[in-house]
Amino acid sequence: MNTIKVMGDTYCIDVGNSYIPFYKLNEKDIILLDTGHIHEREMIESAIEENEFNIKGIINSHGHPDHVANNQYLKNKYNCLIAAPMYEAQICSSAINLKAYYNDNTLTEIKDKYGYMLFETDFYITDKQNEINFCGVEFRIFHTPGHSPSHICITTPDNVGYVADALVSYEIIETAKIPFDFVLLEDLKSKDKLLSYDCDIYIVAHKGIYDDITNLIADNIAFYIHRAEKTYELINGRMTMGEIVKQASIKFNVNLSNIYKYDMIRRMLQCHTDYLYETGKIRLVIDKGFRKYERKNNPLNS
Ligand SMILES: [Zn+2]
Repeated sequence: MNTIKVMGDTYCIDVGNSYIPFYKLNEKDIILLDTGHIHEREMIESAIEENEFNIKGIINSHGHPDHVANNQYLKNKYNCLIAAPMYEAQICSSAINLKAYYNDNTLTEIKDKYGYMLFETDFYITDKQNEINFCGVEFRIFHTPGHSPSHICITTPDNVGYVADALVSYEIIETAKIPFDFVLLEDLKSKDKLLSYDCDIYIVAHKGIYDDITNLIADNIAFYIHRAEKTYELINGRMTMGEIVKQASIKFNVNLSNIYKYDMIRRMLQCHTDYLYETGKIRLVIDKGFRKYERKNNPLNS
């Protein structure tokens, strides 16, 4: 049994690296909030089967591979409905749309590596929408763009807030080398906005349950800025993105053994270089036909 009662009819499945919340409509029927990573499918299914649950619906917080990977599989198996933020639902609606996320990959690679991320959405959640009546139950929506383009937090009728990836737990703060964000500056604004997200209990996807997130918000903001500063320290003279990735792999001891890992690290570092650019710490230059980053205080310029 790997289910945890959070409050009232809100529970979550512990799948090791993350919590997958669910809301019980009755003894049998449940609504899942996200569907985990492809490797977590067996654990999710065994929790559902042990409890003889029936999935009536899925609400997604955002369209990342570790949150939507089992959407279509579970939809086919349980004939359930899916609600998801509109933009990310459309991204995950076809391989060619998914290329907007993974523009470094070819369409063939996307079909081979990320095909499991595709799903059909029944209800689109717009960025103007603050609640959704889903399977006869009212969930509130709190918008936190930044980690992904239209990331949302979902509040169950028990006033339990699922913050998904808008925050990470202390365990991740202590161990993550390069946390991922789509647009870090926007994510930091959303993290700050979470101070007004008023719930009785909060579930963080990776991975914790808290009754107060005030300190966690401040510590998340400090952690993300600190990691971006670590990327800043890698930039020596004028460097291409490839050179920054190479430097990061040495300094942070990151394994770049295949293209998948390389692309992932590059995307993570890109979120830092974007942030450093937006906050005026670095500039972009064209140097002998190469697109390069340099610190604004680069002594080569003086
Ligand atoms: Zn995510």
